[in-house]
Amino acid sequence: MSAHVINGKEIVSSYRAEIKEEAHALTARGTQPGLAVVIVGEDPASQVYVRNKAKACEEAGMYSEVHRLPEQTSEAELLQLIRELNGNPKIHGILVQSPLPKHISEERVVEEIAVEKDVDCFHPTNVGNVTIGKDAPLPCTPAGVIQILKKVGIPIAGKHAVVVGRSNIVGKPMALLLLREHATVTICHSRTPNMEEITRQADILVVAVGKANMIGKRHVKPGAVVVDVGINRLDTGKLAGDVDFEDVLDTAGYITPVPGCVGPMTITVLLRNTLEAAKRASQAETAVKA
Ligand code: NDP
Repeated sequence: MSAHVINGKEIVSSYRAEIKEEAHALTARGTQPGLAVVIVGEDPASQVYVRNKAKACEEAGMYSEVHRLPEQTSEAELLQLIRELNGNPKIHGILVQSPLPKHISEERVVEEIAVEKDVDCFHPTNVGNVTIGKDAPLPCTPAGVIQILKKVGIPIAGKHAVVVGRSNIVGKPMALLLLREHATVTICHSRTPNMEEITRQADILVVAVGKANMIGKRHVKPGAVVVDVGINRLDTGKLAGDVDFEDVLDTAGYITPVPGCVGPMTITVLLRNTLEAAKRASQAETAVKA
């Protein structure tokens, strides 16, 4: 039997409609949610991501500004811009697009972003808060995956979830959010021997590696939910996920397509985080006036 292909477009468009409505209501009360996106250098993929984020923001009725800095920008100059954005009342979310040029420390840059404007959830304080279950913006890609599972109605509690990849951006926080949803979680990475034996036990398999088509039917239990986070540019120019979609289609129960599911959902969570940051800023301002 062929897997149910999750309709990312439908899920994303209904979620964005909700966000747009709330953003308009907040704007009508005097606070238009605002996102600043900072990009350093000319990396073509990053340029596309930044354009998509700014466009999504505008379509949701939010304010957005893009700061394009040249490759030779110094760390001190970038930190100065972040401090300015931290103090700018029109901006509720700050996102610095990675990768940064090698002479700039991503860690240092992330730490400079005001915790309340860290809509990517990369700041160590927010990472810590998410880890201990305190209120904080949720990391965009992993939270997007959880949203997709919930919107499709896939139960998570009590299921065995296997995450392939352990990066700070996707793998680790993904495992953490699945744990928060009461899954039993296993993480695989490049040093995991016999990975197929582990992935074949997964009820929910989330793959975030960055290697085109590396996961095939031999890795998948019949009927499993397969979520493909990977985005890989093939020599042909086409995009491919980490999962060999055609190979897995007859084995999986559900599968997310690439492109068109986790990618746009990630941007949608970014919008949600910016909206929530703007709501908190507006409440804080009202409290000060009262
Ligand atoms: P990283 O390169 O930071 O991490 C890759 C992870 O995969 C590492 O933990 C690595 O293990 C593991 N890995 C590498 N080779 C293997 C292997 N053969 N078997 C098992 N594990 C392996 O990548 P990211 O997490 O940043 O991104 C992963 C993918 O997701 C990329 O394609 C990226 O483009 C995509 N992505 C998509 C997003 C979206 O919005 N859809 C957002 C962010 C990323 P080890 O730690 O041992 O080296």
